[in-house]
Amino acid sequence: MGLTNERHERVIALVGNPNVGKSTVFNSLTGLHQHTGNWPGKTVSGAEGRCRSGETVYRLVDTPGTYSLLARSAEEEVTREYLLHGEAEVALVVCDAACLSRNLLLLLQVMAIVPRVVVCVNLLDEAARRSIYPDLAGLEALLGVPVVGTVARKKKSAAALLAALDRVIDAPPPVPPAFLSPLLERCRLSLREGKEQEAASAALAARAEEIGHAVTRGEGEPYSRRDRRLDRFLTGRRSAYPIMLLLLLLVLFITIVGANYPSALLADGFSWLGNLFRTCLSALEAPPWLIGLLVDGVWRVLSQVVAVMLPPMAIFFPLFTLLEDSGYLPRIAYNLDRPFCACHACGKQALTMCMGFGCNAAGVVGCRIIDSPRERLLAVLTNSLVPCNGRFPALLALISMFLVGAAGGFAASLLSACLLTLFILLGVGMTFLATRLLSATVLRGLPSSFVLEMPPFRRPQIGRVILRSLLDRTMYVLGRAAAVAVPAGCLIWLMANVTVGEGSLLQHAAAFLDPFATLLGLDGMILLAFLLGLPANEIVLPLVLMGYLSAGAPVELGSLAEMRAVFVANGWTPVTALCTAVFFLFHWPCSTTLLTVKKETGSWGYTAICAALPTAIGMLLCLLIAAFGRLAY
Ligand code: GDP
Repeated sequence: MGLTNERHERVIALVGNPNVGKSTVFNSLTGLHQHTGNWPGKTVSGAEGRCRSGETVYRLVDTPGTYSLLARSAEEEVTREYLLHGEAEVALVVCDAACLSRNLLLLLQVMAIVPRVVVCVNLLDEAARRSIYPDLAGLEALLGVPVVGTVARKKKSAAALLAALDRVIDAPPPVPPAFLSPLLERCRLSLREGKEQEAASAALAARAEEIGHAVTRGEGEPYSRRDRRLDRFLTGRRSAYPIMLLLLLLVLFITIVGANYPSALLADGFSWLGNLFRTCLSALEAPPWLIGLLVDGVWRVLSQVVAVMLPPMAIFFPLFTLLEDSGYLPRIAYNLDRPFCACHACGKQALTMCMGFGCNAAGVVGCRIIDSPRERLLAVLTNSLVPCNGRFPALLALISMFLVGAAGGFAASLLSACLLTLFILLGVGMTFLATRLLSATVLRGLPSSFVLEMPPFRRPQIGRVILRSLLDRTMYVLGRAAAVAVPAGCLIWLMANVTVGEGSLLQHAAAFLDPFATLLGLDGMILLAFLLGLPANEIVLPLVLMGYLSAGAPVELGSLAEMRAVFVANGWTPVTALCTAVFFLFHWPCSTTLLTVKKETGSWGYTAICAALPTAIGMLLCLLIAAFGRLAY
């Protein structure tokens, strides 16, 4: 019997090179939806999941994708330490069928330190497309461990893997074949003691190469001709930037066009439900203050958050995930490597910046893929300069209400998309500027070189992408916003209804902030909403609206046009909208992001810089815009 832990779960370590489909194998075995992005190094902290086969419960531990077990990078170190620790009884090593030789080095290293190993040769379909046919039976015979061929995207692969695990888990550990055992022994000692690792691994790599050749039939190319042609286009000197720009514009355009109608529908629906809610509460003879608190406070803020945020998010996230899954994001990193290097940073920062479009907190965690601590800090501190999903629907609303005009239609949507693209480019430009500034001052140093592997282009699994981005991301972000909207709605209603002296608390607070806010082209209520919106940017615009409404007569809110009318009645001009939009782009990150920064950097100082940097930029820009605006009007 192998070791069993307290719950009699049998522990399996999932090991593999980056991008071989390890997460997909993990998900198909456990039924979980671990997020898979198509670039190397994204699994930095291991996920865990369980699956059952008959009486046996397997606990699968996903280790970071790595090319070898020499302790050279964080991923290698983590994986090596975990395997040496010995918790895992079996290592399930996932290999890429199209480049077995490279994958076999890791496999042999794992075989050196884990007694029971199952090999999963994945991506058989992709290999076949490139006319590469690995001889699985031959490999099994050579190594003396079970080899299972899979196409991890297909469901039935999981059953074959489980059967192989069942076979080895209680069997005595196999004796390594004679031609390998001295090499494995040497490798085991070197990995354990950390000595002579390079030499032992070089010998092992040569053997891996031999085995790879011996068991691969076919004349395939490791890098398909189609990919090469696509890459010449997508990362070409002339074409790369126009394509990136066009894709950004296209994604935003689809988001805008798609979101218009459902947003209005949702707003109408919520308003109808709100009235029903009010009628029910009155019928139940609830006191007026309670009705006000629940309907005008909580319900209104909540429904605004959902109506404004949900449609753009539900469209943007899947589109973004499609780009990510197809393998385009690493190309963006490649294209942006040069400007980031010019800012003394690392090209991988382009990836973390892109993750920031989804969620800045996720982007900050993603910065772990950057090895150099200095460059990682640069990426962490500048991540919130690109608008996350909590902010860009608000930007969109402001643009449609004030900068494009109320007329809908194709032209207006295209104009909105162009303006939003400009805002995003402003964010990207600021990222470069701030990165350069930081690397000239607080974080001085020269850029390190890095190798970013270009994964092959893969056809994304559209159904799964949509499901995953809707369930995982959209619902997560929306849930968080809604959870914050409820107490914020309560608070703002209470502030509006508790009177001290002449006016309500809300009026006092807004009046207190007003002089400073006016300097920035905003007003006291807007600034107050930004402050109250610290937990989630999504609620800022709804809070501004509630703030205004609480002072006047209740208004039925449906479309953006009605929202615009409320804002105009409270003195908004296009300059106010522009300043608000700019301040949306550049102000303190939400509290989740700040806490994540504290966790990742371990320093309140850096967290403070992370909050101060965008705020200072935003205030400066708003001051300038407001000053020009005053001259013009
Ligand atoms: P990891 O980096 O090793 O965790 O790789 P992922 O599980 O994230 O997979 C990378 C990409 O390969 C994803 O787009 C998967 O859908 C895709 N993928 C995984 N396994 C297969 C397979 O067997 N065949 C094909 N065609 N694609 C696969």
